[in-house]
Amino acid sequence: MPPPRGQPHAEWKTAVWILNGVGLVLLLAVLITYFTREPARAASAPFVYLGRTPRPTATPAATSYDLPTVTPNPLATPIQDYSTPTPFVFTGGQTAVSIGHSVSGAPISAYTFGHGEAQYLIVAGIHGGDEGNTVDLANQLMVYLSDHPDVVPSGAVLYVIPDMNPDAVARGRNSDARVNANGVDLNRNFPSGNWVPDWDHSNCWNERPTTGGAYGGSEPETRAVMNFIASHRLQGMISYHSAALGVFPGGNPWQAASKDLAAQLGRAAGYPYPPIDIGCDYTGTLADWAVENSVGAAVDMELSTHEDADFSQNLRALKVLLSFGD
Ligand SMILES: [Zn+2]
Repeated sequence: MPPPRGQPHAEWKTAVWILNGVGLVLLLAVLITYFTREPARAASAPFVYLGRTPRPTATPAATSYDLPTVTPNPLATPIQDYSTPTPFVFTGGQTAVSIGHSVSGAPISAYTFGHGEAQYLIVAGIHGGDEGNTVDLANQLMVYLSDHPDVVPSGAVLYVIPDMNPDAVARGRNSDARVNANGVDLNRNFPSGNWVPDWDHSNCWNERPTTGGAYGGSEPETRAVMNFIASHRLQGMISYHSAALGVFPGGNPWQAASKDLAAQLGRAAGYPYPPIDIGCDYTGTLADWAVENSVGAAVDMELSTHEDADFSQNLRALKVLLSFGD
């Protein structure tokens, strides 16, 4: 029987379709390989395939915060981490809120105790180093407040910034660790009316060279606290230092309400008021800037030594602060 007409033709058609299929699969494989190559290799290819534009050069991811260029402080000693290895866990459930970062990127935290319209603030650690016992005090007060929430009167709220200068505090308890990582004295860096970049050091702390910064508010730690204060309506504030000189009212000249608060705090804690005058002209301080920017009353208060936290004296002082201005 002769072979059916058309069968050889059908076999030929089948072969063509198989070849077409194989060709398409190969073409797809080539295309997939090309388009899944690394961008850098694709961009550096010696030709542009089918007019495809090269991928743009990757830009670095933006950082989560904006900090000035870090100038290493030649006085800085190697960082030692004196911080607690784990965050505080308060029985009252208080948690840290980051209000900014140090030059080295360490978070600056604030904690909140109580609820109400009358707002108060404690800042510690602004001078790090030898004044690190102020951070101890703030930590001890926070633990106590968490266990004894009734210390904060109803209608009042206390904010605590326990470590304003974490880069300095981490350098340890020594004179090298007073300034921030840019070599700036943060309690000379606030843009108060009397801010200056330099001052007569002869009657002031002069164990190491320091500056007031490139301009008032030049440091990220300073700006973090300025932003916090500007976004709250504070009736009273204590900025803690050590040691032994007493309680300094904010304002230049001293503001009346701050003098009143300083006198009451001095009596409660047993610290000198008026403060001991060593002939130093204090410029660009946190307390001065605070009262110039609508904080009701503000003081710099010095613990009696560089070692003790003076907890019981300052628990009495805290109760004075939390009823001030009522
Ligand atoms: Zn100080």
